[in-house]
Amino acid sequence: MLDRAAKTFFQLLAGSGTLKALASRYGMRRPESFARRFIAGETVQEAIEAARALETRRLKLTLDLLGESVTNLEEAEAATREYLTVVDAVVQSGVERNLSLKLTQLGIDVDKASAIDNLRKILERAEPAGFFVRIDMESSAYTAVTLEIFETLWSHGHRQIGVVLQSALHRSEADLARMNALSARVRLVKGAYKEPKAVAYQHKSDVDAAYERMMKTLLTNGHSPAIATHDPAMIDTARRWAHETHVARDAFEFQMLYGIRRDLQTMLVNEGYRVRVYVPFGREWFPYFMRRLGERPANVSFVIRGIVGEQR
Ligand SMILES: Cc1cc2nc3c(=O)[nH]c(=O)nc-3n(C[C@H](O)[C@H](O)[C@H](O)COP(=O)(O)OP(=O)(O)OC[C@H]3O[C@@H](n4cnc5c(N)ncnc54)[C@H](O)[C@@H]3O)c2cc1C
Repeated sequence: MLDRAAKTFFQLLAGSGTLKALASRYGMRRPESFARRFIAGETVQEAIEAARALETRRLKLTLDLLGESVTNLEEAEAATREYLTVVDAVVQSGVERNLSLKLTQLGIDVDKASAIDNLRKILERAEPAGFFVRIDMESSAYTAVTLEIFETLWSHGHRQIGVVLQSALHRSEADLARMNALSARVRLVKGAYKEPKAVAYQHKSDVDAAYERMMKTLLTNGHSPAIATHDPAMIDTARRWAHETHVARDAFEFQMLYGIRRDLQTMLVNEGYRVRVYVPFGREWFPYFMRRLGERPANVSFVIRGIVGEQR
């Protein structure tokens, strides 16, 4: 219940222009500013520096240029151009070639065909350079269209792409069977968006139970599965299940968010598991940041300490 209330509350705050202006002013301006715990920086060069630091710790990474819900085609095209710049910068830098992106950032709310075109442009530059591109999953309003676009691209021969499924949604177990049948690469998450009960489980215990069922299916029937969670109990279950069903440690990966459970990331790497860190960066960091607070209200005290410290 508290989880839902927190998600709702932070979703509401995420819409506040005043808060956004305040956060933008204080959140990233210094290396120790509070938002930097979860966001690698505002520029691609800062993200690349963060990526290098992760690689030194033997972690894998995926870079996410923050931005979502653009409202016109110019913004969507600008985001696409920015992604192309990111591709070039990553190639130059020599860090791992792996991106995550959102369809609302590429204009899906404005015009579906243009969003697909934008995604194609990114893939045409990224795939030949050896990138893997994950299409993040947004709220349930986009699930069907995201999977449909993924399947269309797949049928056109794009293979360096992957999707995300959220255990919170009732439909996801069927979607997992559909994606496994395609041999698609799935990242499994619990789901970061507040969803209505018509489409999603409302109790954390149900979301967790669905996650466990889906994780087991994904580990045994999936293709390069990504188990994206910071939940230590779930991670333990995954390790045990993989061991019992003879899934090799390098046949799947754990994924975690930048700045969250760094201890667990290191522990898993030391045990020989593959761990990928999702590295968000860019000027449009506020909605992403608010979702992280909504998942764990304890983060708020960390942020408040940061703001108070900054203003001194
Ligand atoms: C790599 C990656 C990619 C993701 N991509 C998507 C996506 O495309 N679409 C989508 O809807 N969601 C995505 N998510 C978010 C996901 O849906 C969850 O909202 C988020 O991971 C929190 O759930 P959890 O599984 O970590 O476990 P929870 O059960 O929420 O938390 C378990 C424990 O993890 C730690 N923890 C969790 N969240 C935080 C936090 N914010 N700050 C500090 N500690 C925390 C705490 O110790 C907590 O007790 C992604 C998550 C990851 C790791």
